[in-house]
Amino acid sequence: MLKLFNTLGRKKEEFKPIKVGEVGIYTCGPTVYNYAHIGNLRTYIFEDILKRIFLYNGFKVKHVMNITDVGHLTGDADSGVDKMLLAAQREGKTAWDVAKFYTDAFFRDMEKLNIIKADTVCNATQHIKEMIELIRRLEKKGITYAAGGNVYYDISKFKDYGKLALLKQDDLKAGARIDVDANKKNPYDFVLWFTKSKFGEQEMQWDSPWGRGYPGWHIECSAMSMKYLGEHFDIHCGGIDHIPIHHTNEIAQSEGATGKKWVNYWIHGEFLVLETGRMGKSLGNFITLQNLTDQGFDALDYRYMCLTAHYRKQLTFALDALEGAKNSLRRLREKYIEFRKETGKADEKKLKSYKEKFTDAVNDDLNMPQALAVVWEAVDDKNLNGAEKIAVLDDFDKVLGLRLSESKEENVELTGEAKKLVEEREKARKAKDWKKSDELRNKIESLGYELKDTPEGTKVKKK
Ligand SMILES: [Zn+2]
Repeated sequence: MLKLFNTLGRKKEEFKPIKVGEVGIYTCGPTVYNYAHIGNLRTYIFEDILKRIFLYNGFKVKHVMNITDVGHLTGDADSGVDKMLLAAQREGKTAWDVAKFYTDAFFRDMEKLNIIKADTVCNATQHIKEMIELIRRLEKKGITYAAGGNVYYDISKFKDYGKLALLKQDDLKAGARIDVDANKKNPYDFVLWFTKSKFGEQEMQWDSPWGRGYPGWHIECSAMSMKYLGEHFDIHCGGIDHIPIHHTNEIAQSEGATGKKWVNYWIHGEFLVLETGRMGKSLGNFITLQNLTDQGFDALDYRYMCLTAHYRKQLTFALDALEGAKNSLRRLREKYIEFRKETGKADEKKLKSYKEKFTDAVNDDLNMPQALAVVWEAVDDKNLNGAEKIAVLDDFDKVLGLRLSESKEENVELTGEAKKLVEEREKARKAKDWKKSDELRNKIESLGYELKDTPEGTKVKKK
């Protein structure tokens, strides 16, 4: 049985698909005006694990993700400046070039993190027609109003507005949010279509029944998810920051238009935080995957680190924690290489109990820390032979996504002094001068290398 924590209702529930054996998943994608930071990437890793667990359980998965490549304000609540425009000005490019550049960068990160690409990746700018149709549908139902040149969603016409975020009716009336838009009847109303840009030089504009302009940012997810997954589908995911505004507004739009339930399960991932607090593009303290690579980490070290924490718990990012993850992953790869060299046949019966334990962990609302514990238990189990361990690890890696089968022995190219010392030590060992050999070992290790004497000779690795 697969259980998931549903934000809608705030409890763990058994997953029941709309169509037997199939699951439709929509995940909110990036706004492509800058690189993704590792906090964003944590969300995509959690969503990838979720998807892999469905595949592991034999489901047919249909995954749709959007790319927000249209102008999008820095504040979710129609406030702030336009992010794409800001980036275009910053980089001296057109908004279209900015979008293309960061979309490519995003997919390079996804590939490095071994995140399976969505079956359908849809760009907001290519679905303006669908967004306009959806706004018209809402308009016909009397849920919208025009003011100051913009089309607004009237939340007083949708009684379930606060159900996902558990917003109270009183809060909605009082308008807890600071908003400067005097056109709004209620502070929680939001823009569906802008014709009056605050920014004179807005590049991305389209014709619409309400005049030339551009969509509000929530409408794209409603329009595109329903186009590709239907008006009722299984799962919608994102970071927890999307609960109070973006996802709340998506529900209002979709259910307002169809008059029926839209999504069955809402799954949200917690934040990655820095020791000093939250990380964010707007805070100017964000770390990219490239920053980690520059410091000698592999993208999969970061993926491993994310697996050590439950997706609904905050994860504090620190370099020593990443270092720990890197060492664990390296150890796992070394073991994998060792097991691969062993001969023997796998006994299916012995594998079964491990697969069950692993499945129980991942199916319990993605308990990846527990799943990793099962991995290490199998690695250290003296009753399993190499072939059995490889079979188990290959199976688990369908969910972990650590590319274990690609593990290679680390071949260090030695240069300069280290190379000379290793050669000298080889000679000392041949001459059975153990004292000298030990002295040389210490010297080599102090240069940052690790030595392992094997029947085939001495192996050298970077520490
Ligand atoms: Zn969305």
